[in-house]
Amino acid sequence: MVLATEENIQKAADVLRRGGVAAFPTETVYGLGASAFNRAAVARVFELKKRPSFDPLIVHIGSLSMLESAANLEALKNENRKLLEKLIQNLWPGPLTIVLPKKNEIPDVVTSGLDSVAVRFPKNEIAQKLILLTGDPLAAPSANPFGRLSPTRAAHVSAYFPAGVDIILDGGKTDVGLESTVLDLSSGAPRVLREGGVPQEEIERFTGKMTSRALNSPMEAEGGAFKTPGALKIHYAPKTVFKLHEAGAMLKEPFSPSKAYLFYSFENLRLYAKKNGLKINENELPAHERLWALCGGAGEPSCREAAAALFDVLHMMDALDALEIHAEKAPPDGLGPAINDRLFKAAGSVLEA
Ligand code: AMP
Ligand code: MG
Repeated sequence: MVLATEENIQKAADVLRRGGVAAFPTETVYGLGASAFNRAAVARVFELKKRPSFDPLIVHIGSLSMLESAANLEALKNENRKLLEKLIQNLWPGPLTIVLPKKNEIPDVVTSGLDSVAVRFPKNEIAQKLILLTGDPLAAPSANPFGRLSPTRAAHVSAYFPAGVDIILDGGKTDVGLESTVLDLSSGAPRVLREGGVPQEEIERFTGKMTSRALNSPMEAEGGAFKTPGALKIHYAPKTVFKLHEAGAMLKEPFSPSKAYLFYSFENLRLYAKKNGLKINENELPAHERLWALCGGAGEPSCREAAAALFDVLHMMDALDALEIHAEKAPPDGLGPAINDRLFKAAGSVLEA
């Protein structure tokens, strides 16, 4: 693991140009990247992650002019082409991945044989510099073994992969903290395939109301083919048994010292501590070894703050000696659905009362 200095970004770009694998920060989570044009390097990413080969990767570009090296915009319907322009203008660079018709030059291993390719222009400057210095778009999934919690710090990546990754660039904690929203424009009407860093409402300012939320909600994925790995019922899972409660319902749970509790807001944490006669420290994190909150330490709870804290807090809670982690759902607007999607998957979609 090395600091993401100019010199080390250049080193990582050299590694990538020679067909190596590099981990790097993006604004969503850390990525495990390979040149999207190098089949063998991309195959190594799948192997390192133990990611099933039917689960396609996102191709990251470092400038808009790289878009057409991955996507065939000629094959896009007129309406979707206009929409793409608006989305690019307003939401790129940022945590929005757009699925588009694929250029032949992108090898099948990247897209799992699909004739579409998922493209994202990340906002993180280290990621942008790395891609531009490499000169190729980078195929990069999140830098975690398949199914495990996503990495929001370089230390998570080096703990997951003590060997095998040629270089890990440390760019600090990621700011969005949730994976990108995946929007399919490749054919037909626009559709969200995975909720993520851009709330669906924000995309709907350009698309108009989209009929369904992501098809990857655990209920809808039940018993069906899925187009996106988010659709697997267990994903982003901690090692500790994880149970999810409806918003507010966890307040009624009796406290057990063998469990750890994750509240959405600090206000709920405070109420719970009072009810159970637990002393908390308002000025320290965590306020109590067994009680954690995603947001609202001092001010109003905010979904952005909660999303940024989510995987980071889950990594820390997973390292406690608790037998179970109990968590409550986020409110259903803004980034709430994306946060709840990750919580559902951490719980293997088992919702307690
Ligand atoms: P990850 O890189 O682990 O954050 O996951 C990438 C997400 O993009 C997954 O949900 C993929 O299934 C989705 N994805 C990548 N390529 C495509 C594609 N061509 N069509 C539909 N979804 C895709
Ligand atoms: Mg992932």
